[in-house]
Amino acid sequence: MSIQILDEDVVSQIAAGEVVERPASVVKEMIENSLDAGADFVRVEVYGGGRRMIRVSDNGTGIPSHEVELAFARHATSKLRTITDLNAIRTLGFRGEALSSIASVSQLNITTRFEGEDMGITLRLEGGHIQQQRPIGSPKGTVIEVENLFYNTPARLKFLKKEATEKRHIASLVTRYGLAYPDVRFVLEQDGREVFHSTGSGELADVLLTAHGLDDFKNMFEVRTDSDSRIQVYGYTSSPSLNRADRGRIALFVNGRWIQDTSLTYAVIQAYHTLLMTGRYPIAVLMIDLPPNELDVNVHPTKAEVRFQNPDEVFSVVQRAVRRAVIDQSQTPALRHRHFNDMPDLSERALVGWRPEQESAHQLSAGLQLDSPGDFTRQRFSTDADDHGDYDEDDPTSIPDGMGTPQKPRTLPLLRVVGQVGASYIIAEGPAGMYLIDQHAAHERILYEQFMAEYDEQEHMSQYTLAAQTLQLSAPEARLIEENSDTLRVFGFTLEPFGPNTFVIRSIPAMLADSEPLEIMTRIIEDLEQEKDPGQDAIEAKIVLRVCKQAAVKAGQVLSHDEMQGLIRQLERTDSPLTCPHGRPTMIYMSGDQLAREFGRT
Ligand code: ADP
Ligand code: MG
Repeated sequence: MSIQILDEDVVSQIAAGEVVERPASVVKEMIENSLDAGADFVRVEVYGGGRRMIRVSDNGTGIPSHEVELAFARHATSKLRTITDLNAIRTLGFRGEALSSIASVSQLNITTRFEGEDMGITLRLEGGHIQQQRPIGSPKGTVIEVENLFYNTPARLKFLKKEATEKRHIASLVTRYGLAYPDVRFVLEQDGREVFHSTGSGELADVLLTAHGLDDFKNMFEVRTDSDSRIQVYGYTSSPSLNRADRGRIALFVNGRWIQDTSLTYAVIQAYHTLLMTGRYPIAVLMIDLPPNELDVNVHPTKAEVRFQNPDEVFSVVQRAVRRAVIDQSQTPALRHRHFNDMPDLSERALVGWRPEQESAHQLSAGLQLDSPGDFTRQRFSTDADDHGDYDEDDPTSIPDGMGTPQKPRTLPLLRVVGQVGASYIIAEGPAGMYLIDQHAAHERILYEQFMAEYDEQEHMSQYTLAAQTLQLSAPEARLIEENSDTLRVFGFTLEPFGPNTFVIRSIPAMLADSEPLEIMTRIIEDLEQEKDPGQDAIEAKIVLRVCKQAAVKAGQVLSHDEMQGLIRQLERTDSPLTCPHGRPTMIYMSGDQLAREFGRT
């Protein structure tokens, strides 16, 4: 072929490919235009997952009638004049590409009335070419209908996902804008049915409640940086007990623009370090505001990527704000339930005792120093007598000096076991109230942290060698074991092929010495089968979780007083005593004040 300059239509269609990838991109660009036009009401109607029709109506400024045609020309914008304007850009759009791109790959109707004019104007375009235009009476604002998206670019059309997938993308997009702009009332209708609306009340909490539902909302913590911080972070993030298998529920907005930023997403995940199991992610909606000149928004045509002048600073501000919200709020008793709080009070006040007349500060500090050390290196919780000699629970001074390895810091106050309920829960008393502890969940937490500590330190986990046991599997199960045999070996499982679909189990993790190897292998296979194509992290997480679950004391198991006390001693020094590695709570806490209140003593 000889060299030729491409014809204008082809250029537009190619350019459109960068901006308009799928129906949701059309919705995004149009919502951004409505917001830039100062609308406080935006209605999005979608038919056939956006392929048949997308209609976005707003009550913004509208477009002056003599400029409408121009709005559909490439690189036509009212938001930017010179390249230096980009340093202070406050609008979502600035490239002047969206309308022309969308119009070039669809059949489009626009009706708009500018705020200063009496009459509106309506236009129809096909493949970017104006077919008709005439004046029309209409309310202030703009309505754009995009029909038959990609009708003239069959290659694009072919790559569209199922209608349900496109619907889902659009719904999450509109929801995100609802969250980012609580002052604006959004309505989303799909095939004539309303699927989302926000009230425009200005309260992020209101939108969050509609978007995520009450159950999730109850478990979200407010994030807010100090008002004098140059970089502001505001929003909500989930308590560790509310988490998801993917990071897609972490939504970030920078200066009102939804962005995708792996590094900042990681800042949020990092803030949950040790609070969430590997492979589990929080839910978060965070608005980050910073001076526009410290931000480059012109990285990609979809404007979903930004560059920060000081990326490390933004990273740490976000991470610290989220971490602080999670730590502070997990540890304050939130009065959510009438009787029991979700989380124990770990504040200073709580540590200083709820019965000052009985428990002096002196006794308390003695207890803090002389708590049983060295538990972390053990597999099972102690049965006390063998580990502590004649350690007497009520007389801390009876512990011999200089015993054991360096201790991890205390994360719970010193607890005294009172008894067991239903062979499943341990009742304990602390200086600040009563604790009801799920023995299985608590033990899972302890084992998980021991296991991960060992994993961080050495390449291979300690093993327990077995008298050879054979494992007979189906063909797909055998493939699964083969595929993951290296990972399994790292965690202490050695399996050797032994005839068709048969393996010999040579070793299992030391932690599982008391368990039935065939049973644990069956469970692991079940876990691995669940997801078709999990990432390596998810596979490792599944194995670790399963090992801890299997090794942990079960609900229904009667424990001696010493066993319970041993378990609690270890829990008191875990990094995250409040949740099990699956993110469920390990305990219910009731403060002394609450008890008094419940009994009408105050
Ligand atoms: P950009 O948003 O980058 O400026 P667009 O192609 O999205 O480019 O839009 C072109 C121009 O059309 C905008 O600059 C704006 O002046 C006008 N416009 C588009 N949509 C609307 C709307 N809903 N309300 C008012 N003006 C609009
Ligand atoms: Mg735009």
